[in-house]
Amino acid sequence: MVNLPDVSNPLWFLIISFIVYAVVVGRYFLLSWLFYRVFHVWRWEKWKSKKINQRDYNPGQFRKEIIRSNMTAILFGISGAVLLLLWQKGYMKIYEDIHAYPIWWLPVSLIAALILQEIYYYWLHRWMHIPSIFRVVHKWHHESHIASPWTAFSFHPIEGLIQAIFLPLILLFLPMNLYVLIVMLTIMSVSSVINHLDIEIYPRWFARNIFGKSVIGATHHALHHKQYKYNFGLYFTWLDRMFKTESPVYDELIDEKTSTGLS
Ligand SMILES: [Zn+2]
Ligand SMILES: [Zn+2]
Repeated sequence: MVNLPDVSNPLWFLIISFIVYAVVVGRYFLLSWLFYRVFHVWRWEKWKSKKINQRDYNPGQFRKEIIRSNMTAILFGISGAVLLLLWQKGYMKIYEDIHAYPIWWLPVSLIAALILQEIYYYWLHRWMHIPSIFRVVHKWHHESHIASPWTAFSFHPIEGLIQAIFLPLILLFLPMNLYVLIVMLTIMSVSSVINHLDIEIYPRWFARNIFGKSVIGATHHALHHKQYKYNFGLYFTWLDRMFKTESPVYDELIDEKTSTGLS
């Protein structure tokens, strides 16, 4: 295992939590800032026809989203330290030698983890939309009626915790190479920023023609922020289609947002 201090020592647990928090929050600022600057500011003229909602953002929205995303990052920091602790104690199925399992397991484990997260998130997301749960747990995220790149990790701490425990949970039984895990973490962060961009940046072939016309992007998730009762998925539209929770206007809107050439 990578040479790291013993995380069962409370001081090291705190230090590692802080380091993971700093990495998560730094990555959030970098990605959200980059996507905001590129699509909403620098290349706005080029991308404005792909914007889903035409209304302006509420004053103070970004500030609130950044504060809440920081709280989520603290929870991710703690979960990172817990993950490391469990790894050091021998409970985690993370492996470093790529030959420890067949080579084909590298992509298959990534796909399996993404599908497991899709199922986990879809059902928890539907649960969070039960009115009594919504008011306490999920309302914070939906206060961003028009999503922005800063909304990506803007969750109530209970929702942040639900998201943070997913990886330590599956790594108890799903063997994953350390570098595949890093790819998974990158997909998680980048896709969350893209889905909250409110500008459809995926080309039609990607949004409509691969994985059974099912990759979720900004259009799909913008409809969730507006319509609430539709589009609960995370990466793929499969479960929304299977359980009839996909917005009836999605097909038309995604065709519209991916049809015209960029002006
Ligand atoms: Zn959202
Ligand atoms: Zn929701």
